Amino acid sequence: MDKSEKKGSLWSKEDLSACHPSHQVLFEPIQIGPVVARNRFYQVPHASGMTEANPRVRAAFRGTKAEGGWGVVSTGAVSIHPSSDDSPLPFARLWSDADVASHAMTTEAVHQHGSLAAVELWHGGAVVMNRTSRLPPLSPSGISWSATHIGFMGQHRPKKMTETDIDAVLQWQRLATRRALDAGFDILYVYAGMGYLGYEFLLPEYNHRKDGYGGALENRVRFVREMLEVTRDEAGGRAAVALRISLEELRAKPTEHYESEAHGVVSLLSDVPDLWDVKMDSSPTDCGASRFRPEGAHEPIIDFVKTVTDRPVVGVGRFTSPETMVSQIRRGVLDLIGGARASIADPFLPVKIREGRSDEIRECIGCNICIASWHDGVPVRCTQNATAGEEWRRGWHPEKFVKTNTPERLLVIGGGPAGLEAALVAARQGFDVMLAEQADDWGGRVLQESQLPGMATWRRVRDYRVWALSQMGNVSMFTNSKLHAEEIDSVGAQHIALATGAHWTRRLYSPLEIPAESLDSPQVFTPEDVYAGRISGDRILVFDYDNYYLGGVISEHLAVQGKIITYATPAGHASAWTFMTNELPFVYQALARQGVTIHTTTNLLNFANGRAELENLFNRTPLELEIDSIVVVGHREPNDVLYQELMSCQQRSNGQFSINLLGDALAPGAIVHAVHSGHGFARSLVGDETIYLRDEPIVPVDPMPAFPLSEESKFFRS
Ligand code: ADP
Ligand code: SF4
Repeated sequence: MDKSEKKGSLWSKEDLSACHPSHQVLFEPIQIGPVVARNRFYQVPHASGMTEANPRVRAAFRGTKAEGGWGVVSTGAVSIHPSSDDSPLPFARLWSDADVASHAMTTEAVHQHGSLAAVELWHGGAVVMNRTSRLPPLSPSGISWSATHIGFMGQHRPKKMTETDIDAVLQWQRLATRRALDAGFDILYVYAGMGYLGYEFLLPEYNHRKDGYGGALENRVRFVREMLEVTRDEAGGRAAVALRISLEELRAKPTEHYESEAHGVVSLLSDVPDLWDVKMDSSPTDCGASRFRPEGAHEPIIDFVKTVTDRPVVGVGRFTSPETMVSQIRRGVLDLIGGARASIADPFLPVKIREGRSDEIRECIGCNICIASWHDGVPVRCTQNATAGEEWRRGWHPEKFVKTNTPERLLVIGGGPAGLEAALVAARQGFDVMLAEQADDWGGRVLQESQLPGMATWRRVRDYRVWALSQMGNVSMFTNSKLHAEEIDSVGAQHIALATGAHWTRRLYSPLEIPAESLDSPQVFTPEDVYAGRISGDRILVFDYDNYYLGGVISEHLAVQGKIITYATPAGHASAWTFMTNELPFVYQALARQGVTIHTTTNLLNFANGRAELENLFNRTPLELEIDSIVVVGHREPNDVLYQELMSCQQRSNGQFSINLLGDALAPGAIVHAVHSGHGFARSLVGDETIYLRDEPIVPVDPMPAFPLSEESKFFRS
């Protein structure tokens, strides 16, 4: 059987009997070059943090999305040669035949469910620093990416590519294509986006060449055209060829012959790829956080593409609503609905729409913790979906749960993210679940924080779980129910889970980089005081060494109320960790809009008589501010008093029930940690927590030759 026959038999027609009629358009098959996707759900390439070191973790992660109905499932960036080495950031590779086997695991996992497997072949150009391979980075004209973030900085400036170098890259793309076909991929990418090599040829800022690859737009598209042609030639009709391209900067450039350079590039290459995968130019705009970017935010940039090409077009936009997806197709914006985050948060999103269960979609909240995983260099984590990345190593399936043989009673105390997740998973496992919350509504910190500027989408953490719990017959839920140790016995539960959260303290910051003593004064407040509207005074200092979003959001919130806000942090940036979640530039924009004054590398020492004493963390230069009050966003302490009381009751009552701390009550963290903690606890009730497999690379002896740097031509021919 030849490969194209195999493609035809990958999928069978989807059963749409339960699908809402208006959503059925999302399940129409579509031809992409020589292959056919079974529906319009296309998991676009996205980083997973799962490199060749985690081939089984990766295959299970991608395979689960195919099982969940995504008609196409793509890899993340797959480097075609060691001169595209992004270490220590995670990436995959097809550098030699030895790399084929680990990718074949992924394609097999994807094909098993009737989906197509796409590979994002990638050369990073000047963006990568080749820290491990130590080869010179490559770029059209030696223009470096001079990033402001230390993790992206490097001291190895790129080599100006000669025509021999260009031929070499084309040859590497050909070899990588051959290996990708051997691994079983159905769609092969050329990447011309996000500052990488193809993009650098397209953009005049990077491309100053005077030869046939530079100057006029027709010349600047030549490298990308040749990459597409060499891929198609090698594929020989056995796989489709896709072009992934960033259009933001190009669209901003008007030209003589076209409305913009973006229109020009798409016109010039119109029918060269089998598929256009269109996106924005940088991670913060391409993968915008919900705090600053709504669903479908790419549309004003990419809306023209279908008017210029007849080839199918896929694009993203944190789409989670089937109505928005249908509208994208009906209005002729996109042919395929791209999903990266939507597919991480709910791998079964397509199946749920197909089966008329779109209420059950676990919608992405746009927090970008998944992106932070890539910046951290680890396998993906997701706030909404605790099972992401755990499919193989812990055997956690997002929709399937081991049923308990002993449906005992579980009392969960605390209805924040950890408690809600624990209750939901335990209920799905068949336990008799009681959930008690002292407040008059569910959600814990999410309920509070989602009322702050830009944070409304985060409420989905609460809404999804409360709705799902309300559908279950084995769950009783009680708000306005503060539980005390002496009441617990009467509940008759075999398991108690304390998800009682944590509270913010007034502790200051020590130059040892640890929390210091408390600043206890009636004019010193915590975030809880902000939620309760207890802040007094007009001139407020927000002192933040939590360094994630909250200090910035609270500053914005108070400024919107007309307060005069000064923000100070010992860190190098305001809300410094939001770099990891693509929010940092927009945090600065939001604070500037509200007139917030920012002091970085600044520590708060004292506050008395309306004067705050601060100093520069490094050179000790003093700073005095006249203010009315301070909000400290720094250290959190677990709410574990009830736990301590219960532990002593337990000793008295001879251990009639298990007592478990979850989420922030166990160890304060981000919401992603609380959800994961709640999930893991519930799985442990049926013994599921014992699984923790360690993945191993597949390492046959690598036949790749060494790269003699002194003889450049040999290195390039390798
Ligand atoms: P996490 O992120 O770990 O879920 P949260 O702080 O978001 O933590 O949620 C903890 C929840 O527990 C809050 O809604 C809080 O009101 C509730 N809670 C704390 N102590 C009790 C108690 N004794 N009885 C009932 N609910 C409690
Ligand atoms: Fe969405 Fe956040 Fe999950 Fe990423 S981590 S997929 S942004 S919910």
